[in-house]
Amino acid sequence: MSIFRKFIKYYEPYRALFYFDMFCALIVSAIDVAFPQILNWLTKGLFAQGAQIIMKSLPWIAAALLVMELVRYGCQYFITSWGHVMGARMESDMRQDLFDHLQRLSFSYYDKNNTGEMMSKLVSDLFDISELAHHGPENVLISLLKIVGSFVLMMLINVPMTLILLAVTLIMIAFSIEKNKKMRAIFMDNRKKIAGVNSRVQDSLAGIRVVKSFGNEALEHEKFSDSNLKFLDSKESSYRIMGSFRAGTSFFEGLLFLTVLVSGGLFIAQGTLQLTDLAVYALYINIIINPIDILIEFTELFQKGYSGFRRFIEVVETKPEIVDKPGAVDLKDVKGNIEYKNVSFSYDTANNVLENINIQIDAGKTIALVGPSGGGKTTLCSLLPRFYDVTGGSVTIDGHDVRDVTLKTLRKAIGIVQQDVYMFAGSIKENIAYGKPDATDKEIIEAAKNANIHDFIVGLDEGYDTYVGERGTRLSGGQKQRIAIARVFLKNPRILILDEATSALDNESERHIQKSLETLSKNRTTVVIAHRLSTIRNADEIIVIGDEGIEEQGSHQELIEKNGIYAKYYNMQFEGLDTIMQ
Ligand code: ADP
Ligand code: MG
Repeated sequence: MSIFRKFIKYYEPYRALFYFDMFCALIVSAIDVAFPQILNWLTKGLFAQGAQIIMKSLPWIAAALLVMELVRYGCQYFITSWGHVMGARMESDMRQDLFDHLQRLSFSYYDKNNTGEMMSKLVSDLFDISELAHHGPENVLISLLKIVGSFVLMMLINVPMTLILLAVTLIMIAFSIEKNKKMRAIFMDNRKKIAGVNSRVQDSLAGIRVVKSFGNEALEHEKFSDSNLKFLDSKESSYRIMGSFRAGTSFFEGLLFLTVLVSGGLFIAQGTLQLTDLAVYALYINIIINPIDILIEFTELFQKGYSGFRRFIEVVETKPEIVDKPGAVDLKDVKGNIEYKNVSFSYDTANNVLENINIQIDAGKTIALVGPSGGGKTTLCSLLPRFYDVTGGSVTIDGHDVRDVTLKTLRKAIGIVQQDVYMFAGSIKENIAYGKPDATDKEIIEAAKNANIHDFIVGLDEGYDTYVGERGTRLSGGQKQRIAIARVFLKNPRILILDEATSALDNESERHIQKSLETLSKNRTTVVIAHRLSTIRNADEIIVIGDEGIEEQGSHQELIEKNGIYAKYYNMQFEGLDTIMQ
């Protein structure tokens, strides 16, 4: 489908509005173009017939003109109000489509693209598109009708004079087109630069705590001022071009009037033009100047809207890499037997992060992954809920390849507690209920109790209704972690992934949370990654992952007896060298 067709698609729900808008545009232009003609007809016909006839017909003429003006008023009102409403509705539809699509896109998309750019896409592009959507068609229609209509009617009065005016008009249009090419390039550049500015702001504000803790305000200032100045530079060039553009346009407007006066004078002297015709020409020039401006501005509007729409389409048409395959079945009555068979994986690069991994986990068992930071533990876990797909081998749950089941049921079966906890803007209650949006208050409290956070919550002034703000800054790391655990209690998945869930916590909070994590993993298949080896001693099986893949495997006791890598790590930690492993 061409980009134009894709654009048209958004008009479809508002077809009636669109057609009526066009109809009104037609009426407005017709009335405007008819006006000088009426003057022509009155001065040459009626007004030449003497005082008595003039006086008799004047009230009728006034009444007719008034009706015309009222109709014009109605149409203009519709174009301005409902035209904008139509544009706003289309914009809202597109915004929703874009947002929904951003929700569908896979992790790999977000690895490659930054959210600052996406925000700028959401806001400014859609506004430009909406402007184009409603002003575009009506402006083009009105302007073309006025220009073409005026020239046709001028031809009826005097062909040579009209041709001279047409020539000047064409030169003016050629000038504008040329300037416009330059505008187009500079607008694209403007866009790129502002997106750069936005993403810097977003990045710096999202990391404001890091900035301040390192006292790096000056460094951030440098980085920001660089992109800010680049944007300023780009804007300055665009204003210089715009300046010569606008000034040139008004110069040509003056030139058109001058041409009417000079050539009109010559034709009157020759006797081929009547004095009243000069007034009619002046009126027509007045009518065409504005539409020419509008048409030229339309190219600007078009450029912005078109590039905005292209970027919009680019995002909306980015295929999510991870989707349900046709005929995917629901994962039902999950027991929680997990198997990794010859699994290999790489993130878009040549080097495999995982190679030939074989792991089998029986339902209800707990396995622990240990190994150096960057060894691929998190990556291994993210293959289970299909945040990424394996590049070789397969991951199965109860014998079903995870790629054969629906994402919805797959992800419902898996609960994850990570080191970073995200709190959505809203109350504590809403944040816990994120694990099960239709949960009752009783269930939410139950989950909070299980997560050992209930007592803390009821101690707050507003209890469960306490607002935790955009990033949950009013909670400590341990409290946020317990809310995250409460979420998973509510979700009640068969399979649990604990990815360094307590790594960011001090020993005291860790002990608190350890207990709720143990309750949480009861009767669930659990994969736990922890850097404090003391917390995984009781795992049914411990798997050591290193650069060479799985290096050791067995129970704590077996691995200690084997006296290999695990035993070495374990002894080191007990000598207090906690930092070797992460
Ligand atoms: P671990 O959890 O054991 O510390 P990870 O699974 O996070 O290790 O990372 C394994 C390797 O994959 C590392 O080399 C890391 O740089 C790389 N990696 C992790 N996430 C991504 C990603 N989203 N895109 C590209 N490479 C990644
Ligand atoms: Mg990790």
